Amino acid sequence: MNNVRIVLVQTSHPGNIGATARAMKNMCLSELVLVQPRVYPSEEATARASGADDVLAGARVVDSLADAIADCRLVIGSSARLRSVPWPLLTPRETAELAAGEVRSAPVAIVFGRESSGLSNQELDMCSHLVNIPTNPEYSSLNVAMAVQVLSYELMLAGDSANVRCEMPERCASNAEMEGFFGHLEQALDEIGFTDARRSDKLMRRLRRLFHRASPDTEEVNILRGILSAAQGRKSMRRDAAGS
Ligand code: SAH
Repeated sequence: MNNVRIVLVQTSHPGNIGATARAMKNMCLSELVLVQPRVYPSEEATARASGADDVLAGARVVDSLADAIADCRLVIGSSARLRSVPWPLLTPRETAELAAGEVRSAPVAIVFGRESSGLSNQELDMCSHLVNIPTNPEYSSLNVAMAVQVLSYELMLAGDSANVRCEMPERCASNAEMEGFFGHLEQALDEIGFTDARRSDKLMRRLRRLFHRASPDTEEVNILRGILSAAQGRKSMRRDAAGS
C-alpha cells in the first residue's frame, strides 16, 4: 500500500498534521502530501507525530490540489457531509478495496479537507469518487486525523487481503490528463454556444461524473480532445463562411 498518498488540504492546526503522520505510520502508510498547510513545519506537528517524524520529514508541501494528484488516476475525496453533488459514493471498505487493486499500477490519492469547511466543490470536482465514514447523523464530522486513521486502517486490511476490486482499465488517463480534457471541454462547449457561464458549473459536474465513470485511457482522451478541436475549428470555419 505504499502507493497510497494521503493528501491534506489547507490544514489549519499543525497538531492535526502530526497526528495524521502518526495515524498513517501505525497503518504502514508513508506518503503524505500537504496542500498549503497554514502552519508548517511546526514543533506541534513534530510533537504530535510522536515516533512518526520520518513520515512528517518525508511530507511534500505543494501549492495546489492539482499538483498533489497530477499523476494519480484514482482520486478519492473524503467528505463529512453527504452533498448534493451526484458523485459515486464509497464506504471506507469499498475505498480500500478499490485502492488495493489500483495501487498495483498507479498511485492512489485520498484527499482530506480543512477542519473548518472540508473540501470545496471545485476540489471535489477533481476527485473521481467520494468516501464518507458512517457516523452519528447528528454529529458526523470527525477530527481530520481520525478520519485518516479510519481510512488508513481499512487500507491496511485490504492490502493484506486478496479481496480486491480492479476496476480501472490498465492505461487509464492521469488526473492531469483528465483535468486538461475537462478544461478543453468547458472551453469548447462555451465556444460552440452550447452552454453559458450560469449553467456551466452544474453541467460540467455532470459531465465530469460521466467521463470519470468511463475511465478513458490516454489515447481515448486524446481522441475526445481531437473531436473538441475539430468542433471548435468547424465553428470558426462556419463563421468565416458566414462572413465571406
Ligand atoms: N466542517 C467540515 C468538516 C471538516 S472535518 C465540513 O462540514 O465539511 C475535516 C476533514 O475530515 C473533512 O474534510 C474530511 O476530509 C474528513 N472527515 C471528517 N469526518 C468525516 C466523515 N464522517 N467521513 C469522511 N471524511 C470525514
